[in-house]
Amino acid sequence: MEIMWAPWRGEYIDGTTGYPQPEGCVFCEALTAENDRDRYIIHRGRNAFVIMNLYPYNNGHLLVIPNEHMSRASQMDAETRHEVMDLLMKAEAVLFQVYHPQGVNIGANIGAAAGAGIAQHVHFHVLPRWNADSNFMTTVANTRVIPEALEVTWKKIRDAWDGSKP
Ligand SMILES: [Zn+2]
Repeated sequence: MEIMWAPWRGEYIDGTTGYPQPEGCVFCEALTAENDRDRYIIHRGRNAFVIMNLYPYNNGHLLVIPNEHMSRASQMDAETRHEVMDLLMKAEAVLFQVYHPQGVNIGANIGAAAGAGIAQHVHFHVLPRWNADSNFMTTVANTRVIPEALEVTWKKIRDAWDGSKP
């Protein structure tokens, strides 16, 4: 048994996936992009935004990220902390609404040693869980089969996000 609570070890970007990693920060880069659909952005707030994890552990794996580039959660000012917490709670509610999971993980890996894939820009995971989701592929190959296309997931969550009360 490895670290118990590390479903996102190979999280946002993995050199083996072939996803093009920009020169700078992928989160800052996504935030400055015009098209939300292309970047799988769910919500843009005053101090923080919500984006889908491109290499999700499960369908609906979301990230809540401060707009400002910072590596530690403790660097967020009070306004940003409040907004991030609000967005985490809303993400939890939306995931329960859309996917009816049996549980949700909310958490952050601060620093590469803690398991952060993008250690330079702090981000919080909101991850729907099911009792049976630690499957064979995860155990053996550290890989997951995600049956739903990212675009479909984006549309579902985005619609629910915009339609739901905060
Ligand atoms: Zn950044």
